[in-house]
Amino acid sequence: MNPTKPRLYPRGADLLHSPLLNKGTGFTEAEREALDLRGLLPSRVATLAQQEERVLRNVRGQPTALSKYRYLTGLLDRNTTLFYRLVIDNLDEIMPIIYTPTVGQACQQYGHVFRQARGLFISINDRGHVVDILRNWPYTDVRIIVVTDGERILGLGDLGANGMGIPIGKLALYTACAGVHPASCLPITLDVGTNNQALLDDPLYIGLAQKRERGEAYDAFVEEFILAVQYLYPRAIVQFEDFGNMNAFRLLRKYRDRICTFDDDIQGTASVALAGVYSALRLTGGRLADQRFLFLGAGEAGIGIGDLIVTALENEGLSESEARRCCWFVDSKGLVVASRSDLAEHKRPFAHDHAFLPDLQAAVEALKPTALIGVSGVGNTFTQPIVEAMARLNPRPIIFALSNPTSKAECTAEQAYTWTEGRAVFASGSPFDPVTYAGKTFVSGQGNNAYIFPGVGLGIIASGATRITDDMFYAAAKTLAGLVSEDDLALGRIYPALDQIRQVSAHIGAAVAAVAYAHGLATMPEPEDLFKAVRGQMYDPVYESYV
Ligand code: NAD
Repeated sequence: MNPTKPRLYPRGADLLHSPLLNKGTGFTEAEREALDLRGLLPSRVATLAQQEERVLRNVRGQPTALSKYRYLTGLLDRNTTLFYRLVIDNLDEIMPIIYTPTVGQACQQYGHVFRQARGLFISINDRGHVVDILRNWPYTDVRIIVVTDGERILGLGDLGANGMGIPIGKLALYTACAGVHPASCLPITLDVGTNNQALLDDPLYIGLAQKRERGEAYDAFVEEFILAVQYLYPRAIVQFEDFGNMNAFRLLRKYRDRICTFDDDIQGTASVALAGVYSALRLTGGRLADQRFLFLGAGEAGIGIGDLIVTALENEGLSESEARRCCWFVDSKGLVVASRSDLAEHKRPFAHDHAFLPDLQAAVEALKPTALIGVSGVGNTFTQPIVEAMARLNPRPIIFALSNPTSKAECTAEQAYTWTEGRAVFASGSPFDPVTYAGKTFVSGQGNNAYIFPGVGLGIIASGATRITDDMFYAAAKTLAGLVSEDDLALGRIYPALDQIRQVSAHIGAAVAAVAYAHGLATMPEPEDLFKAVRGQMYDPVYESYV
């Protein structure tokens, strides 16, 4: 169902300027006649497929990734249906433009290329009026809000209000990958200032020119925002996105049992990584409980993955303390152990009794991990001796270099395969080209969060779930791993091909909804065939007839 379909359409030029309704040259003769469009369009009526061909040529004709991004944003501002048709039919090609890595570049230049606002900007100066600002949003059936305060945008740090590109991009993926209707998606930036001096000094910066608000004022602002959302959009998911470390864990803890919320950097990442581990085990043999995971990096991604592995192991019969001992962390200071007094709270549950070790190499030799997971944001940290040690210790070492962008990957696909003589099961955060080693071609998997969060959102909406739990991310991981084919594995790829993603999202949606029903969190009547019901709700961009 299209929640935006008005009983009375705008007409004439107003219709052409309503992106959710506009078809441009796709309006038929009868529609042009009935809706006062005669003369406002050239004579020839185009099909959606013809329009798609035209815009695809235009995208390909752009000289840089950033100009492609700008062209696509312009298209989204003009014709939502055509934009999503293009994205869905060319996901492999378009996703890296509307999301990482190009979106990062776009955020860095957001103020300089700014043309038209999209989403809501709510500033700390709006305290006391947040609900009024939310009321300015023109659509009433908001089901997913992606909100950022811009403090930790991808691997790029504090971009303040320029971070708005991220909620916009993530929500575009909800629609493209899982068919959440575009009018149900609301991107929000909470502008609390920025500590990025270059932005503060830039006269074209679009956000508040002040240092970041912290402490009680910040918390009160976020609380007012959450209450306003609850009041106006009680059925909406609130997805926290790219908050700094010091707020991300705290906000998740504070709100996860109070409202329908999750943090994709922590929980979505965890689910996609766990899915990769389950697929990898199909190649390496052995059970999850037999693994020893060594993480480089103990931030949102690393601790998130560790916590979900613990959930998975508990589901497989281990106690929490047994499960935690399967996960070890090295941060910028060395091995995370109980004797350290400098550990942030989120690292403490993984601080085991063990002698302190100063670096990753020492930790690999001492702990003999079966899997090495890089989430440090620091490139080239899986050095040749470290990867060779993994190959010496394991017949098939699991090596995930998840840091983004490509330049920050802990090692490249080529290094992983070469240094392990083709035995590594490798995945990365940013895509790598296929690698040929000793006559065999390896296509490594990209642990893209887009495999998980759109389907999770779809399942929450379909079931009307009131909370989002770790069990749902666990179910999503198992579902994703189950969709990896033998053909994928034969290539060394531990995730399904990207062109399967809408099907993947529907399966994940059904699995998440099933958890919601099983745990009493659902508010919608339970359908007989969950997959069919979830699949049937997905928005498909086609032109509806207006006459
Ligand atoms: P974060 O800032 O929360 O955490 C980074 C952690 O790495 C911190 O604990 C920090 O102390 C540690 N660290 C920094 N330098 C180090 C060093 N030299 N050696 C060891 N540890 C070091 O960031 P995050 O959200 O956890 O993201 C980390 C990386 O993971 C980023 O590059 C991000 O792009 C990537 N990531 C990938 C995916 C994915 O592949 N799907 C998803 C999320 C994040």
